[in-house]
Amino acid sequence: MAGYTVLANRYRPRVFADVVGQEDAARVLQSSLRDGRAAHAFLFSGPRGVGKTSMARILAKAFNCLENALGEPCGTCRVCTSIDEGSECFDVEEIDGASHNRVENVRELIERLRFAPVEARFRITIVDEVHMLSTAAFNALLKTLEEPPAHAKFILATTEPLKVPETIRSRCQILDFRRLMADQIALRLGQVCDGENVTAPEELLPRVARHAQGGMRDALTLLDQLITFGEGSPRVEDFERLTGRLSAELLQSMLSSALQSDTAEVQRLAEQALDRGARPADLLAQLVEWLEGVLVSCAGGTPADRGDQELAALTDLAARTNVDHVVAMLDVLLEAQRRLRQRHDGQLVVEMALISLARLEQLAGMAELLASGGATSAPVAPARPASPAAAARAASPRATPSATSRPAPRAAAPSTQDGSAMQREPAPQPAPRAAASPRSAPAAQPVSAAHAAPAAKAAAAPQAATASATPAPTADFRTRFLEAVPGRSLRLELLRYTALRHEGDALVLCPPRDGPPPLYDPQSPDVAKQLLAAAEKACGARLSLRIEEASSAPDSQADSKANSKANPASAPGSSAEAGGGNPIERRVRELWPDAHDVDG
Ligand SMILES: [Zn+2]
Repeated sequence: MAGYTVLANRYRPRVFADVVGQEDAARVLQSSLRDGRAAHAFLFSGPRGVGKTSMARILAKAFNCLENALGEPCGTCRVCTSIDEGSECFDVEEIDGASHNRVENVRELIERLRFAPVEARFRITIVDEVHMLSTAAFNALLKTLEEPPAHAKFILATTEPLKVPETIRSRCQILDFRRLMADQIALRLGQVCDGENVTAPEELLPRVARHAQGGMRDALTLLDQLITFGEGSPRVEDFERLTGRLSAELLQSMLSSALQSDTAEVQRLAEQALDRGARPADLLAQLVEWLEGVLVSCAGGTPADRGDQELAALTDLAARTNVDHVVAMLDVLLEAQRRLRQRHDGQLVVEMALISLARLEQLAGMAELLASGGATSAPVAPARPASPAAAARAASPRATPSATSRPAPRAAAPSTQDGSAMQREPAPQPAPRAAASPRSAPAAQPVSAAHAAPAAKAAAAPQAATASATPAPTADFRTRFLEAVPGRSLRLELLRYTALRHEGDALVLCPPRDGPPPLYDPQSPDVAKQLLAAAEKACGARLSLRIEEASSAPDSQADSKANSKANPASAPGSSAEAGGGNPIERRVRELWPDAHDVDG
């Protein structure tokens, strides 16, 4: 292995024409050299591994090449080769700012600059990581930058330009180096593989490129390792093992199960991923990366830098969801990433996030309910459908059990202006639907368990004592019916209806009198057809549609009367009572007819 040069060095660009991804910077430098307008000091700024040092060496060669006029170094003369090989070249000095950051180091450097170049045109000083210099060192450098000898050129490189004093920056020509596009990197990796006589699986190089996040050096270093690991044949399995990347199949199944609200499967897959050695942060980052792709697909675009297999998977996922939902999912994951940075129990954070993902549909339903609840109890503010994103915020794992004293989903109930009403509505998001969905078992899951408590408290709202008075079959019908109704906006509107029940062989509806004008006319043939189909799903029989005129005493008059009898404390005028009970409370009572009032 003696004499082996790593790929990153062997395939370093040697002339401006070889530069990949930083063509703009190369063009600017080349043309200023050609016109003889080159600055005497340059500051190259940009993330690590994107070619700053390579460009600095090319520029040094271009200044000093013995063969060529300014513009493009020949790459073969003695100066060019000595710079390439990093061997003795009296006129080009390269130092690392991190290890030579003291004022003495800079003074020595400047001392040497007093002498004219030995064989080339300029004495060139390259300072890498220049932001690491001490203040005194910067001051010493500044003096020379202000009045440099005619034969001196400085090339400073930094990953943190803002840490370089303004006085230094203002005396340099600044060039920004961008992260490389993944397909630029993948293309280069392909060329390197050809050059090395190595065959890589088709899907491997784009994945290596994407993993490098814009850094060519990292990509080449990784490829080097993969070639070594695979004894000449880089393999996808090695890539996944070395980097903690998960297989496309696994990520796809995980998101797919989340979209199907299959919490058990999502948990199983997450465990599998963590067992395979993926760190929690890796897992979250990759899910975010995939969801970004799904989001672009949902919006009708084509995600960049993805292999064919992954593109197909993203398109498939996108077809099963919508932009709002994906945004909400991203919200949950980004919040989880934030939390992960603050605590060590990464596995718990990941599990909570994934369960939240799988339950978003339910959470969104709850947000709608909260939104509509605000509309009914406080008609001054028009109902505004809470977006799933709002639901996600409400659901975001910030709401830990200890936080129950400060209910989370304020965002989800934007229309309630009555502060006291707000306080009486704790944070019940996932729980209510959970009871309606046979798949979920709230108590068994940490997230829902965390919220079950406040939900139960909501159930214990004043009227709860009379909960048994609510005819259970009707309540079940309402829930099942709403779940069977296609379309979020129609469902949202139905939640505002003052009557919605199954009576004999009729579906009885009473549209709201107040609030924003309705979007749907239940009597229009299309809507009626959808409603009756949903009703049939809910009760198993074909019903006829009966529309009731809205009156001042709506739907649950019976409930209201029963309430005021059984619970005189709930005065008929209170905002939650007006309108036959706050829909949230009503809904909670439907779901937990046996709930007890813990307050009274
Ligand atoms: Zn040359």
